Amino acid sequence: MNSSDKIYRVKVGVDFGASKIISGVVVKDKVISLKKIPTPRNGNKEDIVKKISEVINSSVKASDTDIDSIYSIGIGVPGSLDHKRQLCMLLPNVPGNWKGFPLGVKVEKLFSVPTFIVNDVRAITLGEAKFGAGAGCKNIALIAIGTGIGGGLYLDGRLYLGSDGAAGEIGHLIVDKSGSACGCGALGCLEALASGTAITSKIFRLVKQGVNTDMTKFIEKGSYDKLNPSVAFKAASCGDYYANWILNSTSDDLSVVISNLITLLNPDKVILTGGVLKDAEEFISRIKVKVSDRVKMPLNRIVIEKGKLGQKAGILGAAVWGEIMRKKEDL
Ligand SMILES: [Zn+2]
Repeated sequence: MNSSDKIYRVKVGVDFGASKIISGVVVKDKVISLKKIPTPRNGNKEDIVKKISEVINSSVKASDTDIDSIYSIGIGVPGSLDHKRQLCMLLPNVPGNWKGFPLGVKVEKLFSVPTFIVNDVRAITLGEAKFGAGAGCKNIALIAIGTGIGGGLYLDGRLYLGSDGAAGEIGHLIVDKSGSACGCGALGCLEALASGTAITSKIFRLVKQGVNTDMTKFIEKGSYDKLNPSVAFKAASCGDYYANWILNSTSDDLSVVISNLITLLNPDKVILTGGVLKDAEEFISRIKVKVSDRVKMPLNRIVIEKGKLGQKAGILGAAVWGEIMRKKEDL
């Protein structure tokens, strides 16, 4: 029996994050087992390969299947990749020099299963487009708002990666040409203005100035270490002036980028996801209103929706990416 005759039942999706690595065994559109392990922070890349293989093994074991039944492995990686050559380039939140590191090849050698890497937010985009808020849509733009801001484009029914595999960095679109410095080196990127980190520093600056705000009441145990965007969301819903100012300025910056994406791409939907948007319905409503006000082109649809799959989007998307790439190789 050659490999193309074999009936594979499952595929594996891995979400390699800065703090944890999650592996899921996927059958069709379902994650049938999920295992997590902390990400080593010692800067040793081989240790990370070892941990990825450990967590893949434990998820496969828990799924009541075996390695031989796996068609492909996809790994979502938190950073810039050379998608064409399947190499890691820059992983800003994981210690170590990752430039040129063939993570997929290393994992493939351990399991003898075709393995492919993809940027983590592109994986989330693929997951939401295929099985989540974008199911049935041909064109999607996704923005993930967490510590930073990631993005992804799904156009004409496939993940769009651009000429060099780098397309989709929505967080680094410039909103304010003389705005705050971004980690990427540019000024006024969306990430520098509207990420979880940016919202938290807006809160910190105001609280430290001693303005009259109720946000201080929502800071867990009164510790600045516990400061996070939910402090502003909670205080804003109680009518706090400064919290509302933060939500307005942040939703305004997001609305500029979303309006531009809608005008440029005419997508079925723009999907918003990420940890910052948990319990942020009011914030999302403000973004929707501002986008409707800004877009003046005669477009039939302006649809903004929250992602539906949560953590599983990245697992499903990485698994599908592995499957798509292996199918290409099998041709
Ligand atoms: Zn930037």
